[in-house]
Amino acid sequence: MKCSRCRIEAEVALPSHHAGFCRDCFGLFFTRQVERAVKDHAMFAPGDRILVALSGGKDSLALFHQLHALGLDVTGLHVDLGIPDSSGPSRAAVERFCRALGAPLEVVETAAMGLAIPDVRRAVNRPICAVCGKIKRYVFNRTAIEGGFDCLATGHNLDDEAGRLLANTLRWDVAYLSDQGPVLPARNGFARKVKPLCRLTEFETACYAFFQGIEVHMAPCPYSRGASFPVRKALLNRLEETSPGSKLAFYNEFLRRGRPAFQMLEQEQGAPLAPCGECGYPTSAGMCGVCRLRGQVAEHLAGR
Ligand code: SF4
Ligand code: ZN
Repeated sequence: MKCSRCRIEAEVALPSHHAGFCRDCFGLFFTRQVERAVKDHAMFAPGDRILVALSGGKDSLALFHQLHALGLDVTGLHVDLGIPDSSGPSRAAVERFCRALGAPLEVVETAAMGLAIPDVRRAVNRPICAVCGKIKRYVFNRTAIEGGFDCLATGHNLDDEAGRLLANTLRWDVAYLSDQGPVLPARNGFARKVKPLCRLTEFETACYAFFQGIEVHMAPCPYSRGASFPVRKALLNRLEETSPGSKLAFYNEFLRRGRPAFQMLEQEQGAPLAPCGECGYPTSAGMCGVCRLRGQVAEHLAGR
């Protein structure tokens, strides 16, 4: 196969774009897709201060690398979850990455908030990934607001977004369906959130990270076994094999035609938000989920 752009031997085939690219032209393709997502969804303006959540995986590091290469004002944020044999190596990968780029990095340890994930796992009777995700979103939001950043960028790619959309649709979860998209505006104590990789698949992001020589943290989290998101992603990949482009169409058509309807419904039915009595984080209950969790973990540790 020849590169669709310069006609030398292609290294990457992209059936959903009816294209193949050599290494250099793939880099250009990747940049154009990010630029298009940023422009189409008016994610941020030149000069905006962007906080980028960095887990140490390929998506977040590729995102940061690309935004940094575009000359944007980016700061990394790593949340150290305190998971043995996993959090240390991911944090080290993020620190090495930022040091090599000479880029600023903030690290927040959830243990310092009384929420080391192994303790949380022992204290709660729910799937840990949902709880861990809630804690991470809380830290992202708080750091973005307190640091005066214009937005928080995450490395969610098209597979993440389409997989999440499928999960929300299977449950017809109006609150989540009204709130899913590449941009969530700042409101009610929530920071603005953007997903510049929303047009790029996991495979494309992995190719970018590989071609750029980005050293990523590869080992899976020891608590990821039994998580349901890989199953949904695999389902969508099977669909994509038989109908290339269906993932992007599923997501884009939802944004165009589905989301506005769910947003109207949520406006009518959704519970109003108010600041948490403990920490000020927006919540529809008197106390936010993370403060309730902190209490649960403290109680569990005290009774041990
Ligand atoms: Fe947290 Fe689950 Fe991810 Fe592990 S796999 S870091 S527990 S969300
Ligand atoms: Zn709170």
